[in-house]
Amino acid sequence: MKKHIFNAGPSLLADEVYESAIKAIQDFDGSGISILSISHRTPAFDAVMNEADALFRELLQIPDNYKIFYIGGGASTFFYEVAANFLGTKAAYVNTGVWSKKAIKEAKRYGEVEVIASSEDKNFNYIPKFEAPKGVDYLHITSNNTIYGTEYHYDIDAEVPVIADMSSNILSRPIDVSKYAMIYGGAQKNLAPAGVSFAIIREDMLDKIVRDLPTMVSFKTHVDNNSMFNTPPVFPIYVLKESLKWLKSIGGVEEIYRRNVEKAELLYDEIDRNPLFKGTVEKDSRSLMNICFVMAEGYEELAPAFMEYTKEHGIVGIKGHRLVGGFRASCYNALKKESVEVLVKCMQDFAAKYAK
Ligand SMILES: *Cc1c(COP(=O)(O)O)cnc(C)c1O
Repeated sequence: MKKHIFNAGPSLLADEVYESAIKAIQDFDGSGISILSISHRTPAFDAVMNEADALFRELLQIPDNYKIFYIGGGASTFFYEVAANFLGTKAAYVNTGVWSKKAIKEAKRYGEVEVIASSEDKNFNYIPKFEAPKGVDYLHITSNNTIYGTEYHYDIDAEVPVIADMSSNILSRPIDVSKYAMIYGGAQKNLAPAGVSFAIIREDMLDKIVRDLPTMVSFKTHVDNNSMFNTPPVFPIYVLKESLKWLKSIGGVEEIYRRNVEKAELLYDEIDRNPLFKGTVEKDSRSLMNICFVMAEGYEELAPAFMEYTKEHGIVGIKGHRLVGGFRASCYNALKKESVEVLVKCMQDFAAKYAK
């Protein structure tokens, strides 16, 4: 049966990307050698890195005074590395859930952390309003909250450097990169298999590193060595490049944003219309990527049956995170509208059968 993969991460990739990954494992670019066994210090892999760089820049319109680099270790490694590199005295953080909290915890090892806004009072079901702070080393935000299904629908204007964890909504919508000093994330939500994390950093930030750091922790190491100070995650970077190529081929960020809005509206409209379900997030904070909903009052006991019914229709990965409960449909770039339609049909079938 055809599967509809709503996993929160690692998540699905485009069909074309799977195909080129398979080909490259068998024979990388006609070299007769698998991508899994090539040296990263070869012209052929240089070409992969250069193409990824050019595509990333083109798709997000990244200005020339920004550098892109890759590391292993996940977004979680950036939680402490951001603070190690840039937190001299005080940094401001917005607390919008689990990932923000983890970033805050790591930052506290290096200096004072001021949490300038939080949505913890309502189980993180909205993006809190705040005034951009002044006189801090940087402001840190989590642009999309994968677990709670909330998302900033705007870029932040601030005098201080803005650093954003964009693990789960990178390249899903247009953004103004020039408003950020640094953007980072794990690539396994929208771009690649697990194993590589990306960073886009404004060059002047590299002169603002506040302490002497272990070589691997300093962002300067990775920028100066073009992500090749040590062995980079060769295969995940190759797949990331293929995802960028796919994104360009379908019309870039404008087109994927149009598709993401279309998919999200389809599902949110059904959640709002269907008496059996209700959304968990305030409407103006709803994420296009992670759509959270629960059974409506009086229908709670139907949750396991609904889960089972969707499974019978090939739907995978919609169990909600334990901190929210219910369901979470992660609708990343590569998810087709057809998959959302199957889920919506399951919800309609259920309402036809059980609505009181
Ligand atoms: C998944 C996720 C992380 C954690 O990423 P790892 O690569 O597993 O460390 C951090 N932030 C956000 C917003 C995420 O969605």
